[in-house]
Amino acid sequence: MDFHHLQYWQQRAQALKIENRLFINGRYQAAVAGETFAVENPAAQRELVQMARGGQADIDLAVKAAREVFERGDWSQATPSQRKTTLLKLAALMEEHHEPLALLETLDTGKPIRHSLRDDVPGAIRCLRWYAEAIDKVYGEIAPTGNHALALIQREPIGVVGAIVPWNFPLLLACWKLGPALAAGNSVVLKPSEKSPLTAVYLAALAQQAGLPDGVLNIIPGYGHDAGKALALHPDVDALTFTGSTQVAKQLMTYAGESNMKRVWLEAGGKSANIIFADCPDLDKAAQGAAAGIFYNQGQVCIAGTRLLVEESIQQEFLQALRKHAAAFEPGNPLDPQTIMGTLIDHGHCEKVVGYIEQGLEQGAALFLDGRDHSQGSQQSYLGPTILTQVDNAMSVAREEIFGPVLAVTPFNGEQQALELANDSEYGLGAAIWTRDLSRAHRMARQLKAGTVFVNNYNDGDMTVPFGGYKQSGNGRDKSLHALDKFTELKTTWISLE
Ligand code: NAD
Repeated sequence: MDFHHLQYWQQRAQALKIENRLFINGRYQAAVAGETFAVENPAAQRELVQMARGGQADIDLAVKAAREVFERGDWSQATPSQRKTTLLKLAALMEEHHEPLALLETLDTGKPIRHSLRDDVPGAIRCLRWYAEAIDKVYGEIAPTGNHALALIQREPIGVVGAIVPWNFPLLLACWKLGPALAAGNSVVLKPSEKSPLTAVYLAALAQQAGLPDGVLNIIPGYGHDAGKALALHPDVDALTFTGSTQVAKQLMTYAGESNMKRVWLEAGGKSANIIFADCPDLDKAAQGAAAGIFYNQGQVCIAGTRLLVEESIQQEFLQALRKHAAAFEPGNPLDPQTIMGTLIDHGHCEKVVGYIEQGLEQGAALFLDGRDHSQGSQQSYLGPTILTQVDNAMSVAREEIFGPVLAVTPFNGEQQALELANDSEYGLGAAIWTRDLSRAHRMARQLKAGTVFVNNYNDGDMTVPFGGYKQSGNGRDKSLHALDKFTELKTTWISLE
């Protein structure tokens, strides 16, 4: 039996030994307070493991270890090419451990194993490799001062970085932080989401095996209000890098202000508009892109195309094509390699998403496709693709981040109205335009207030392009060389030549 079969993954899941301790200063260990919390598999509604629950005392230990190794220079003073070698080894080890990593991700989050194998794990590996390969090619600068002086501008690692990540792409988003932060020479304390800590904890052993010095990477699973808050308030953390909700992002800014004014980099929520013009080059392809743009990862994607703005003259035709492509997202067992839609992260979140559907209907939206049909019992986390039409941009389903497979459809007439609707949002993570008119595409792209604008695709991209948001979608950028800005300080050395 091979990995194309459900039974293969079921057997592997049964045989899996899950590491359930914190990783501090190169050693797996229980939490100082001895506490644990349950990590659950949302598809089986079953506890996977009792995980050590990090708190203030564990964060203190981790930050101390991170600081000591940073000041000692084992990693921070290593040459860029030495750091590159170690990170490339880590990427190679992740490749060797591709299957257990993908399996842990699927068991922990309910996302389809085919996506963990195809997207999450390879994406995380690519990211580490990319920064490893980049770091010994980044040069400093000499300022154009004139001949009386020589002014060098260099990037230095910032120190101890606290990384706090969510549950929707646990390993991938952790690596979006770890790649540039470690490549630049920092020490990191990573707090994964309490809902999905398994891959981060597994990664620690691989990093050690790759030769990352003790203390450079510490992993502290735990709750946000506890371990997360302790990390964010810690006076010896130099920078925080966060991916998660806008609400928590705002709290982190407060914590930074209340403590040591640490730099705070925030990748937060989204409510991205996907705009379909009547002159879109291929309606069917646009419908397929729109369906994947909202239903992939059960709609739990920060940049999901949650608001579909469709030109009124093609609305009916487009909705029919959309229904066809939505049908591909039939919820099923995440361990089955045929499944392309798994479960939401947990039952509580599923209820919240269903609540949004009900609110939308109460506020006057119409139900075009009802994913609630997929309910399988009172504690289930399955929800199918849901499409609400006749959505007014003032409704909560158009304004708030639902973070589930719910698409809000609003018709428009003409470019100006599309632009106004798209920009009428607190968020500004992504936007897409489908048109064959090149001038219109450029015009719109310039005026859309979003970190990324897709033209005739939804959510394409790679490591070379920055990712992040305008407005309350955050600040700073993940991916690309620009991410190094978050994890380095610029040092000027002014040398008088007179
Ligand atoms: P969340 O904000 O609830 O939690 C994110 C992380 O913050 C978790 O590790 C959590 O434990 C921690 N946390 C919670 N409260 C905290 C506190 N008071 N102090 C410190 N840490 C705290 O988000 P979530 O529900 O895990 O993830 C979904 C959210 O993530 C969505 O809003 C989504 O848009 C966002 N997201 C954004 C991006 C992006 O790149 N912009 C990518 C993926 C997800």
